[in-house]
Amino acid sequence: MSPPETSTSETLTGARALPSVDAVLRAPSCEPLIGRFGRTAVTRQVRGLIAEARAAGAAPSAEEVVGQAAGRLAAADAPRLKAVFNLTGTVLHTNLGRAILAEAAIEAAVAAMRQAVALEFDLDGGRRGERDEVVRGLLCELTGAEDATLVNNNAAAMLIVLNTLAKGKGVIVSRGELIEIGGAFRLPEIMSRAGARLVEVGTTNRTHLRDYVEALEAGAGLVLKVHPSNYRIEGFTAAVPAAEAARAAHDRGVVLVDDLGSGTLADLSRHGLPREPTVAEAVAAGADLVTFSGDKLLGGPQAGFVVGRKALIARINRNPLKRALRVDKLRLAAIEATLKLYRDPDRLADRLPTLRLLSRRAEDIEAAARRIAPELGRRLGAGYAVEVVGCMSQVGSGALPVDALPSAGVAIRAVRAKGAGRALAALAAALRALPMPVLGRAAEQALVLDCRCLEDEAGFVRNLRALAPEATGP
Ligand SMILES: *Cc1c(COP(=O)(O)O)cnc(C)c1O
Repeated sequence: MSPPETSTSETLTGARALPSVDAVLRAPSCEPLIGRFGRTAVTRQVRGLIAEARAAGAAPSAEEVVGQAAGRLAAADAPRLKAVFNLTGTVLHTNLGRAILAEAAIEAAVAAMRQAVALEFDLDGGRRGERDEVVRGLLCELTGAEDATLVNNNAAAMLIVLNTLAKGKGVIVSRGELIEIGGAFRLPEIMSRAGARLVEVGTTNRTHLRDYVEALEAGAGLVLKVHPSNYRIEGFTAAVPAAEAARAAHDRGVVLVDDLGSGTLADLSRHGLPREPTVAEAVAAGADLVTFSGDKLLGGPQAGFVVGRKALIARINRNPLKRALRVDKLRLAAIEATLKLYRDPDRLADRLPTLRLLSRRAEDIEAAARRIAPELGRRLGAGYAVEVVGCMSQVGSGALPVDALPSAGVAIRAVRAKGAGRALAALAAALRALPMPVLGRAAEQALVLDCRCLEDEAGFVRNLRALAPEATGP
């Protein structure tokens, strides 16, 4: 073993010498680190730490460098896509990945990852097949449509529908339906990228059939109805039902597309939720094509569905954009399994997490809040007051924007009024820093943890043990 490198000045002042990279790597405590992260990564980290120590004039021991390297390697290895406790009260939270999937969907996706699958292979004929075939029949069965196709998400569905059917043509949209969703999806922008020209009709609050008819007479190429997902116009309003707009369009040989946004395949009122028009109803009302998302109320993975007339679907499938927007085998597997659950509406709420969470009864949620509140009270200490409260959850992702769902949760307030805002911000930050981050909702003078989506109570309580001490008393 070669003697560790030391500078003369260190020797002269009696300071401890910096260990060499080699010496650190040979330290017994380094062995498990190499086992876990690999020699290359450990060497790089150790080299960096020694360089830092040299620059700072510090002289850590080999064991100390190993300890520092272990911390940094573990931090760098932690997943960036972390699982979180969604206690925001928004069930389909776009920033938190929207729908969580049914067990059947998870199993199907995992199986598709492990094995070769007949993705584009017709096993009957032994020939090349179409990947959409995996779910085409199911989509038709559940919506009553003649045909169906799917792409990456509903924004992609709009893009390919408009590009296929209305490139270079005018598309009639009511001013009351010109929506922006989540900042990045603005209907007029998607439309211009698709090569279509926006023909606005009516006013923000009122659009009449004659507005559509006038624009149709002027020669527009497509009528688009859009579900005003994330807002509602109230008061002195008028809108034209899709069925009426479709009749006016069809009289002039023009196609009507209905973008349902969230779109649901089940009658939600059966589960105690506000009614939303189903995809089947939109198809029956006369829309030539209906588009909707996979990961909103439907409760599956991200996807955009287009269902409707066979000849139109065939044209969409021939658009070269289809190749750019197609869905991969993992999602196809999960979508197939999710859609199958809709064949048994009686057990849907048990099997589909989205529906299970949305239809959870306020009393049950309150009982969960009562079970976790004492543990929170203990962990947070005397600086915070913890109380079980009633609150309102939201569906999220623009579905049923105004209808809030009665729920319950835990409200946490700072005991001292002075600096309460800062104390709550510090608490929220500490909860976000937990091994499994906890995300609540800021309310007036309180942080509310809506318990609607809390199912793993034991995991939640265990997770709280890691709460940083500075959060336990302002
Ligand atoms: C959410 C939504 C979209 C976009 O759907 P994604 O699946 O998020 O791409 C489009 N139109 C309406 C009406 C929506 O609500």
